[in-house]
Amino acid sequence: MALNKPKIVILGAGYGGLMTVTRLTKFVGPNDADITLVNKHNYHYETTWMHEASAGTLHHDRCRYQIKDVINQSRVNFVQDTVKAIKIDEKKVVLANGELKYDYVVIGLGAVPETFGIKGLKEYAFPIANINTSRLLREHIELQFATYNTEAEKRADRLTIVVGGAGFTGIEFLGELAARVPELCKEYDIDRSLVRIVCVEAAPTVLPGFDPELVDYAVHYLEENGVEFKIGTAVQECTPEGVRVGKKDEEPEQIKSQTVVWAAGVRGHPIVEEAGFENMRGRVKVNPDLRAPGHDNVFILGDSSLFMNEDTERPYPPTAQIAMQQGITVAKNLGRLIKGGDLEEFKPDIKGTVASLGEHNAVGVVYGRKLKGTPASFMKKVIDNRSLFLIGGLGLTLKKGKFKFF
Ligand code: FAD
Repeated sequence: MALNKPKIVILGAGYGGLMTVTRLTKFVGPNDADITLVNKHNYHYETTWMHEASAGTLHHDRCRYQIKDVINQSRVNFVQDTVKAIKIDEKKVVLANGELKYDYVVIGLGAVPETFGIKGLKEYAFPIANINTSRLLREHIELQFATYNTEAEKRADRLTIVVGGAGFTGIEFLGELAARVPELCKEYDIDRSLVRIVCVEAAPTVLPGFDPELVDYAVHYLEENGVEFKIGTAVQECTPEGVRVGKKDEEPEQIKSQTVVWAAGVRGHPIVEEAGFENMRGRVKVNPDLRAPGHDNVFILGDSSLFMNEDTERPYPPTAQIAMQQGITVAKNLGRLIKGGDLEEFKPDIKGTVASLGEHNAVGVVYGRKLKGTPASFMKKVIDNRSLFLIGGLGLTLKKGKFKFF
């Protein structure tokens, strides 16, 4: 073994981190570098499936797999620990249980919910973020239904679910709720008409950036399944009793609810901000080779990064699709830094976007083609399976994939 091999530390085993690590072992040999992957859990979870785990339409164990099953354990040292700080000047990472020195670091810690300073959201609203938040939200919703008939006073707030945000995550979660609520009603002897699902969105439209025909389709489908939309309406405050919402220049309205879900945006991980990088909402505008400006040994990818779309002069929205593609570029560029060669510029290849509306319905655009209904839902499952395949191959896809196409 060569002495003084460069030390590469990858933070986060999400889409970006895992893609980096699985490709890196192909681009650098065992004598070229020491590779360490740090993640707070011993499993990877499919963040893009958390709306299903949160609603209870898919068990959370279906949405996660062991990290050791997809990495080359003879090449990658996996450390299960929580990153507490990144000390850029000292080239070290502080963990809950120790420290790691690095020559190169890859930051893929993902995102955290963005509450825009709205009072009470952090304390009283449920985010859709990871296995722990999803498990809690699923159980909480079920507890409300289970409690309803045990109380002398029939509390409507137990059966009122408010979803803040009609973007991608909010709409996908509403789609799952539309399927889950009738099941819960049946299980707990509750009339479906007693349940309210209210979506509050401050923007003038649902699914901003989506084709208007697809937006109409999604709204119509969700309304038919009992979702009330309050568009152009902002959540002003969240309390233990519910939310205050309102349109500009209008009297605010109180919605009593025991279940307020906040799905209206994310920001980069606070550790990235605290490390001292210049950032916008915790996301660092990275160079074309995905390194942090002024830091030649620091790569940032996925939701912690901000990558500009030169055609629109706006950043690409943070997606798993981009995080995974970035992982390949980061792995290649690390290989070139260590073994020589020009660094590659990251070129996103956006294949499309599909938002699910429950298990058998969806809307989206794939390779420029608009899709809705069963074909869109089929494509959504193909996309979900593809991400498993890219990281864990056929074995993982067969074990965790979605094959109930119709
Ligand atoms: P992540 O995949 O979130 O991974 C971050 C990793 O870092 C996790 O393993 C986490 O445990 C770990 N971590 C965090 N903090 C620490 C710490 N302090 N110490 C150690 N480890 C830590 N994108 C799409 O492209 N298509 C979709 O259809 C889509 N649907 C979505 C649906 C939902 C409900 C949500 C919430 C998001 C969706 N997204 C979708 C967005 C997508 O999930 C994110 O863009 C993607 O997960 C970002 O990948 P990442 O690698 O940056 O971070």
